Amino acid sequence: MSEIPLSQPDITQADIDAVTEVMRSGRLSIGPRRDLFEELVAERCQRHEAVAVSSGTAGLHLLMIALGIGPGDEVITTPFSFIASANCILMVGATPVFVDIDPQSLNLDPAKLEAAITPKTKAIVAVEVFGNTRHMDQIEKIARNHEIPLIEDACEALGATCRNRPAGSFGRASVFGFYPNKQITTGEGGMIVTDDSYLADACRAMRNQGRPESGPQAASPPATSTVPGDACGSWLAHDRLGYNYRLSEIASALGVSQMRRLDSFLEKRTAVANQYIQRLKDWDDLMLPNVNPGEGDCTSWFVFVVRLSPSYGATERDRIISGLRRHEVGASNYFPCIHLQPFYRQTFGFKRGDFPIAESISDRTIALPFYNNLDDTQIELVCHTLKVMLQREQLLKR
Ligand SMILES: *Cc1c(COP(=O)(O)O)cnc(C)c1O
Repeated sequence: MSEIPLSQPDITQADIDAVTEVMRSGRLSIGPRRDLFEELVAERCQRHEAVAVSSGTAGLHLLMIALGIGPGDEVITTPFSFIASANCILMVGATPVFVDIDPQSLNLDPAKLEAAITPKTKAIVAVEVFGNTRHMDQIEKIARNHEIPLIEDACEALGATCRNRPAGSFGRASVFGFYPNKQITTGEGGMIVTDDSYLADACRAMRNQGRPESGPQAASPPATSTVPGDACGSWLAHDRLGYNYRLSEIASALGVSQMRRLDSFLEKRTAVANQYIQRLKDWDDLMLPNVNPGEGDCTSWFVFVVRLSPSYGATERDRIISGLRRHEVGASNYFPCIHLQPFYRQTFGFKRGDFPIAESISDRTIALPFYNNLDDTQIELVCHTLKVMLQREQLLKR
């Protein structure tokens, strides 16, 4: 029996050809593939601007800086997410303010969000956890009413919709990530999308050491440069502190090739999720993810995460995950609560009990193998192994 991994990218000959072509072209960074990749993603989420970056985390970091967020500022976010959605707040020295989640959608609870807003709140980072867009429209409305910029962390939600609007179209700006377990991959990579051209230009400059890449400054460098020996005009004029968060042409070519197949990826993923749901729906010990989305909502399946019933705790859950792995079935505890991570506990004094809904759910989740080409036999094997592990827990309880 061979291993069934937790996730696996879908790489075809077309992807390999696209990458090979770049290698032969001699142009390996800052070129036409990046521009095309940006266009495709912007078009998909109905935004005017897209800025390709080296990771989703880099995109979130740049947005925090571009919004002028720093020490003394508060940024509201969810404790139930991949840690990058909160780390970006710490990167600029601001204070993360966590708000507990809705137990069905697993996203920020809009009802609790409003109460957490203070005069120090400078942004909201809302995540579409596991590709579920639920509440993003309500969160956008709250942010707008309070005139607080909303950053949509859509890193898990490429291709999803919320009230018939695409993920990536909410708030002031949105971010996607292209790590190999995401809906599409560039190996490592990310994309900022926005309708705010000022914000986009600031991010473009900061991904490239702080030099203006487009817009009026780049088009017409100052007649007399203030940079000594700046014979190249704006190319070496660094207006602000920047980073190297560029996305290579190699990665961008893979991104273009993958974007062209996004719809077929989404279909395959939906079929896999439906297979799991069919097989697991009558199991008393399990709660399945979001099977009843609202009107105009469409989940983009990122992972398939089941939840054990409240009679289980973290110890049993961890034992089940170990059991699955021992039988060569990939499994993981998506997500451990961010506020309970050692670094967050030490720095901010968070403790168990601070966000009870996120904690209770986080203790009982199991991510099962999930990827485009997971076939029915493998799904059957995963479900069978999970059943054995659950029966084992029942016996241990007696
Ligand atoms: C994947 C992901 C990111 C970005 O991750 P990178 O590995 O930096 O591309 C950010 N937020 C969430 C919620 C994610 O799942």
